[in-house]
Amino acid sequence: MKKFSSLCVYCGASQNVDGGYLDTARKLGGLAAQRGLTIVFGGGRVGMMGAVADGALEAGGEVIGIIPKHLEEVEVGHQGVTRLEVVNSMHERKMRMFDLSDAFCSLPGGLGTLDETFEILTWRQLGLHDKPVFAMDINGFWEPLRSLLSHQSGEGFVRPEHKGILQFAKGPEDLLQQLEEQPPISLKGQSERF
Ligand code: AMP
Repeated sequence: MKKFSSLCVYCGASQNVDGGYLDTARKLGGLAAQRGLTIVFGGGRVGMMGAVADGALEAGGEVIGIIPKHLEEVEVGHQGVTRLEVVNSMHERKMRMFDLSDAFCSLPGGLGTLDETFEILTWRQLGLHDKPVFAMDINGFWEPLRSLLSHQSGEGFVRPEHKGILQFAKGPEDLLQQLEEQPPISLKGQSERF
């Protein structure tokens, strides 16, 4: 068993979003750093990704970015982080983010964020790991997803025991509080098993 020491943040790379989302991402970075959590993220300097990293760095936290070579220019690799790992593919990025993280939180984002969220959720559904996965429901952003999951469950496509594997947090404080209350993880899952 291991205590939570790192938090992976999945989030949108778009710059063209309401500033409130960026402020919350920055706040999450800062509060997580104050609690001694290492932030693991996609390594970009743009959008929510940059905001969460900057918030953590400003608070003196450790931040590890994982960016594929071909996205280094598009997403502008964040050069100020504690460690920026450049990998060869999207799949390698997700594996590395998984291996380095004890828990996951999806902030508002686009298609890439959904891909990352569902991959980690389905790995958990298959019993490949027992790390907690959260969605931060800033301004009700993830309400449609919550409804979809209820619908899938109601129609019998998601088993009752899997209905709650995506946990929802209202904001940064709520997320950190819920993380403290999580059962310890076994770390049975590391990617070489997959
Ligand atoms: P988005 O939510 O579309 O703004 O994307 C958020 C992040 O997810 C960006 O850093 C994308 O590079 C990344 N991303 C998009 N698709 C994938 C994928 N298939 N695997 C891993 N990361 C992805």
